[in-house]
Amino acid sequence: MNALRKPIVYIISAPSGSGKSTLVNELLKLVPNLDFSISYTTRAPRGSEQNGKEYYFVSREEFEQMIREDEFLEYATVFGKSYYGTARRFVREAEQKGHNLLLDIDVQGAEQIKEKCPDAVSIFVLPPDRKTLEWRLRKRSEDAEETIERRLLAASREIENYDKYNYILINDDLKDSVESLTAIVLFERLRGTLSAGEMKIMDLADQCRLTGVGKRLRPILDSFRNLPTAAQP
Ligand code: ADP
Ligand code: 5GP
Repeated sequence: MNALRKPIVYIISAPSGSGKSTLVNELLKLVPNLDFSISYTTRAPRGSEQNGKEYYFVSREEFEQMIREDEFLEYATVFGKSYYGTARRFVREAEQKGHNLLLDIDVQGAEQIKEKCPDAVSIFVLPPDRKTLEWRLRKRSEDAEETIERRLLAASREIENYDKYNYILINDDLKDSVESLTAIVLFERLRGTLSAGEMKIMDLADQCRLTGVGKRLRPILDSFRNLPTAAQP
């Protein structure tokens, strides 16, 4: 009997207003066999959101009942206010269908998933700058002023976590970003078809790319600069 293959779990996080939902919607149209994990939340629906499409909107009592029954793979209180959680059943269902799963969750949720599924692929979406983020939040015109202020404040904290993610996607031009996101998802699928040995070769070579070496390069170059004459051999 064929063992079911574990689904690739993709995590996508971003400060609110960065364009993550827009990117996810486009991605889901382009990539087959990729399921979206519809989270449960206690926040109220926004704009045209529908129960069972963007989220399952539930009461605090229902959410806490689900916590007690261990139905969540992860959950968190976001913006110090509402509960958001990923139901375990989405992973099971993706596995049964042989699909991969996309989680749109915050930094706290991403940390919990990485502990439980270390192979999860994480992507952090950034806006080009703060001003653009503020403009996008206002353009969406779905939130009250107080909520926009809270989201901007949260963004400053959230972006500090960028280095916990495997990929960083700067969402400037939408078309380019959709292409890059699609490439990440398809590339990780390709990686999954390689043997452990092939993957090791690829990772080792990848670590030596200029982009990967960047951080380690600076202290080496600095050690060759500004040497006092006497210290030179
Ligand atoms: P998030 O899901 O990250 O909170 P949304 O997808 O709702 O953000 O996007 C916030 C606003 O920014 C929306 O009005 C969306 O149309 C717009 N937007 C998203 N990506 C871009 C982009 N690359 N360029 C310009 N506007 C964008
Ligand atoms: P929004 O209210 O803008 O839809 O989402 C607010 C934040 O909650 C976003 O950062 C989003 O990624 C996050 N979020 C959505 N669903 C979940 C979830 O199931 N778990 C966690 N931890 N965060 C979630």
